Amino acid sequence: MKVRADIAELLHAGVHHQDIARQLHVSRKTVSTTHRALKLPARVRGGGAPHATLEDAYRAHTEPAADGHARWTGYLDGTLPILCHAGERTPAPRIAFRLHHGRAPEGRLRRTCTVPGCVAGAHYADRRIREANQRADRAFAAIFGGDQ
Ligand SMILES: [Zn+2]
Repeated sequence: MKVRADIAELLHAGVHHQDIARQLHVSRKTVSTTHRALKLPARVRGGGAPHATLEDAYRAHTEPAADGHARWTGYLDGTLPILCHAGERTPAPRIAFRLHHGRAPEGRLRRTCTVPGCVAGAHYADRRIREANQRADRAFAAIFGGDQ
């Protein structure tokens, strides 16, 4: 049979059949047929996930890169790294941030490095960090007096 690349990609990422069917507008039968055609291992029964925790799943789909960057090897929604775990879809940077900073991000996360797709927790700033940086910038301007 002809295997659809988008279905195969989601199966490899460990996304549940029903989620794949919903997302790609295909039948669950098509998804399970593809699953068999790819000779993928049977999924864990009883709602079990291949990884015990979100953090485990994040680490399993991440490769360290040079200079502290981290490469995402898991599923991408467009260009956004998505972690599929226990039926939940979480942007990988949010998990990376939490692992690095020990707290959940506040507001929007923005990447602070210039490596596209980097998922290193240290390379993301949330609203709280940005506000602290702005305060530091204002203090700097106050001391050294200037707009330059
Ligand atoms: Zn980076």
